Amino acid sequence: MNFQNKKPLTTGFLESVNLMYDRAVDLLDLPGDVAQTIKACNSTYEVQFSVRLRGKLHSFKGYRSVHSEHMEPAKGGIRYSIEVNKDEVEALAALMTYKCALVEAPFGGSKGGLIIDPTEWEDHEMEKITRRFAYELIKRDLINPSQNVPAPDMGTGEREMAWMADEYRRMNPTDMNACACVTGKPLNAGGIAGRTEATGRGVQYALQEFFRHADDVKAAGFDGSLDGKRVVVQGLGNVGYHAAKFLSEEDGSKIVGVVERDGAVFNPKGIDVEALKAHLVARQPLSSFPGVEFVEDGSLGLEYDCDILIPAACESVITYSNAHKVKARLIIEAANGPITADANDILVERGHTIIPDLFANAGGVTVSYFEWAKNISHIRFGRMQRRQEEARSRAFLEQLEAVLPNGVDPALKKKLECGAGEIDLVRSGLDDTMRAAYVAMREVRESHPNCPDMRTAAYMVAVRRIVGVMDHFTM
Ligand code: NAD
Repeated sequence: MNFQNKKPLTTGFLESVNLMYDRAVDLLDLPGDVAQTIKACNSTYEVQFSVRLRGKLHSFKGYRSVHSEHMEPAKGGIRYSIEVNKDEVEALAALMTYKCALVEAPFGGSKGGLIIDPTEWEDHEMEKITRRFAYELIKRDLINPSQNVPAPDMGTGEREMAWMADEYRRMNPTDMNACACVTGKPLNAGGIAGRTEATGRGVQYALQEFFRHADDVKAAGFDGSLDGKRVVVQGLGNVGYHAAKFLSEEDGSKIVGVVERDGAVFNPKGIDVEALKAHLVARQPLSSFPGVEFVEDGSLGLEYDCDILIPAACESVITYSNAHKVKARLIIEAANGPITADANDILVERGHTIIPDLFANAGGVTVSYFEWAKNISHIRFGRMQRRQEEARSRAFLEQLEAVLPNGVDPALKKKLECGAGEIDLVRSGLDDTMRAAYVAMREVRESHPNCPDMRTAAYMVAVRRIVGVMDHFTM
């Protein structure tokens, strides 16, 4: 088929998400207005506020959208970018609803954004702006441990979450669950071990699970494991960096290309992810990174010859215009919405396998769920059982040593002697979540002959679960 002559189906991010949703619900037999009720965004709050900085008032515009409250609190990140707009925030909030349902995180979907270029402001100015934005959201219960719980997204991180949590605490000094009003906080401010790495770690676990299913691997035109697979990553921020780091350090994959805002770098022998990250953190231009080929046109990175493409930057980067140029047989959507609905059709028709965003980047909200649960239970995971587990393992090992002529292998002994700490439990919970969600998607695909791909299956699993909750509503 000549894809160049095919008309684009959609224009915006929200339209793309809704179209993908519609395709999935068409395969489900939903009663009455249920499909429309789930799809519709419940509310979007738009706020304009001013902050006195550098001797004058500066005005900022932000959003917090609540897509679904079928479960509360609603959950979803806050993004800082000059490109933030209502359509984008609503699309991201909808994705959160479906994502939470897919990975069984007991939340509705929400998302927020502030139109700002964080690089234009000093740290103390960012704090003032963030606290003021948080104040506007808190007074409307759009930041609240039982109603709406933000997390980091593009342009925000631990620092912003700590400011928001502190602002909530000041405004609600008697709320004993105040700490649970946002997730992604620093560890010493109520955070959880493993939250910063969680989304990238989830991408790694998603790929590991994919490679456990021989027929999926074969259908994608691969054999073997992640070892030696050539990977290109777009966006070496929180998600992209952690995914690239874990895949290269732990699974033997080779990062052959990295795409950033100011171009792309390639090296078929593999790029040192740590060195490149340090280079970018030091605000050095991508073009000056040694030992790689540099191209100014970053979009060429998406077309580079590789096995796995990981778009981990922003939405709508693979579109109707460039989808037919993508060479990677497997694309895993670490970002939200990197492939538009029409690009999705082109890629599927050309035989590419897509691991969809709903699943691929759900590691973030999964570990946010663990952090929120930790905050409302006021106790660190593993605190009660760790030493007891160690004592049991030691007793067992002593018996084993007594009967085995050569004793127990020291490496195994070390592993068994050590009880699980918070980071071990978080990684175990995340791995379990990613495996279970993958299996749920596979089951739907296998039982629905008309289900064309993993994305549709992801939406079908999510919608069924949301309907299951709504079945108990009386009004
Ligand atoms: P980030 O701000 O830490 O990193 C984004 C990176 O992408 C930056 O290095 C930036 O320079 C680069 N970038 C931006 N636009 C680009 C472009 N057009 N081309 C190439 N590079 C570009 O953001 P993040 O938290 O890593 O989020 C990335 C994506 O992952 C977003 O879509 C976000 O919604 C999604 N996501 C993030 C989390 C999380 O926990 N942070 C969770 C789920 C989904």
